[in-house]
Amino acid sequence: MPLSDYKTALVTGASSGIGAACVTALRERGIDVVATARRPERLAALAAETGCRTLQLDVRDTDALYRELSGLEADILINNAGLGRGFAGFLKSSKDDIEEMIDVNVTAAIHAVHATAQGMAARKRGHIVNIGSIAGLYPIGFPVYGATKGAIHLFAQHLRIDLKGTGVRMTEICPGRVATEFFDTAIPDAEKRTAFMSGFSPLRPEDIAAAIVYALDAPWHVNVSTIELTPTEQAPGGAVRQPVER
Ligand code: NDP
Repeated sequence: MPLSDYKTALVTGASSGIGAACVTALRERGIDVVATARRPERLAALAAETGCRTLQLDVRDTDALYRELSGLEADILINNAGLGRGFAGFLKSSKDDIEEMIDVNVTAAIHAVHATAQGMAARKRGHIVNIGSIAGLYPIGFPVYGATKGAIHLFAQHLRIDLKGTGVRMTEICPGRVATEFFDTAIPDAEKRTAFMSGFSPLRPEDIAAAIVYALDAPWHVNVSTIELTPTEQAPGGAVRQPVER
């Protein structure tokens, strides 16, 4: 079931970064895309640019999430909404930082799958793409964020077993550092943020979208389970090296 067999996609966290790049890439392949996030002006701009449909939703509102997502009949779920907070250190994190990461990155992501996969299984056609992180696979020093992405990683691995025979495929994408607004929230101090993203060429949101399109485009007998991609100068443990002279 390559991408051409899918008709409708739901992209969460579509108002910026990786989500917005996925909307653009899927619209370019002729998919009817519902783009969801909280910021309506961003969604309106994306709709004007790509012709996607929009849905304003805070994924922490679980009742609204089920109400809005269950009826969409999406063939593809790009389960992307997420955030990092408190990258300055666990001991400096607030109670709200911890709760928001768990609510959005874990609880809402699982509910989004639950709300959409039942319809996919009934139609015997579907593809769930979870956006994890290398922080969910390796200890790189962000304990709560890493724990949320680690939880989603094992959720995806178990779910693949659970979904066997339903016609629903499951892919997890685990990126290293991508140049997006993610770090405005994760590292509010501008100087520290600039230092964190300096000395190497970060991934671009379009790189992640291309990996997702590859997984969606695979023939039906192929389930691309996990894709890990990092900047060339970033090792999975988080270390960044200066680019090599070429
Ligand atoms: P952005 O900050 O650009 O995008 C995050 C998206 O999530 C926004 O569209 C935001 O929309 C949405 N979002 C956040 N909270 C909520 C909420 N409560 N309800 C609905 N939508 C919400 O960051 P990225 O594109 O980088 O992040 C996308 C995913 O990629 C995340 O899951 C992140 O953890 C993951 N990731 C990012 C990496 C990076 O280096 N950037 C590396 C590895 C993984 P709005 O604010 O409008 O609601």
